[in-house]
Amino acid sequence: METARAKAAVLIEALPYLQEFRGRTMVVKFGGAAMAPEGDLSNVLFSIVFLSHVGIRPVIVHGGGPFITRAMKARGKEPTFVRGQRVTDAESLALVEEVLIHEVNARIVREIEALGGQAVGLHCRHGKPLLAEKLFGQADDGSAVDLGFVGRVFSVRAKPIHEALASGSVPVLAPLAVTLDGQTLNCNADGVAWKVAADLKAEKLVLLSDVPGILRDRDDDRSLLSTVTRDEVEQLERDGVIAGGMLPKVDACVQAVEAGVRKAHMIDGRIPHSLLLEIFTDEGIGTEIVRSRPQAAGHARPQR
Ligand code: ADP
Ligand code: MG
Repeated sequence: METARAKAAVLIEALPYLQEFRGRTMVVKFGGAAMAPEGDLSNVLFSIVFLSHVGIRPVIVHGGGPFITRAMKARGKEPTFVRGQRVTDAESLALVEEVLIHEVNARIVREIEALGGQAVGLHCRHGKPLLAEKLFGQADDGSAVDLGFVGRVFSVRAKPIHEALASGSVPVLAPLAVTLDGQTLNCNADGVAWKVAADLKAEKLVLLSDVPGILRDRDDDRSLLSTVTRDEVEQLERDGVIAGGMLPKVDACVQAVEAGVRKAHMIDGRIPHSLLLEIFTDEGIGTEIVRSRPQAAGHARPQR
């Protein structure tokens, strides 16, 4: 009986969130060890199918770093990153396309369908929802670095995404964009996700990764910063707390909230059903990037 009561309490706690979020769009970036090639994607995809069935409109943007790195190493190539952005030469681009479209995107679509949901893969070869221009990287001394076939999305064609959502499907976007000349560019999926969230006027941007959120000390999960303001981000970058793959993530969250997305979070995709915990419980988890700290709220999480 106790267990049954606890289960009912969980459902009741979810009700206001279900009421609030019904019909709203949530962009979920799925990456990191949360998506290891040998791992199980169903924990995250089950949450996505759940959201889709209760009338929330999830849009997935996936990464695929571990899959790409594995495929490159198998061909004797070492991946290179500049401030969290993967350098992509012509040979790597062909490999990245192959891996992201045929391995990762297709697998996510297939697994959503296996869980009873519907999904549509969208990328540079189908639907072409992302338009990008070449992006130059920045070295730590501020000088420009040629990253190769790497892009920055400047426009999202919302039509194929809306069509998928209208038919009850989950749009699954690979971070492969095209230029106005038709050249494919590899984009950091965090950067794609914030732009998609902004252009779709999403309620939330959620970045799932293999860390609990922003850690002050990367070796200590208890040092999690549960809310960080845009101004604090700069200081954390200067102090070297935010580095590597965390840089594009934090930037994505800041850009999203500046563009009007209501909430931007980073959460741990390794925790079972972390996405549902973040959306449907009062506590929330991970790190949220906020415009400013709520008055007199101390260190409590801001009201939703
Ligand atoms: P994803 O595929 O999810 O984008 P990345 O490897 O690009 O994963 O980025 C996540 C990584 O960022 C973490 O695994 C961690 O090594 C690194 N990182 C850098 N600074 C921090 C920090 N302050 N807190 C947590 N992780 C950090
Ligand atoms: Mg990354």
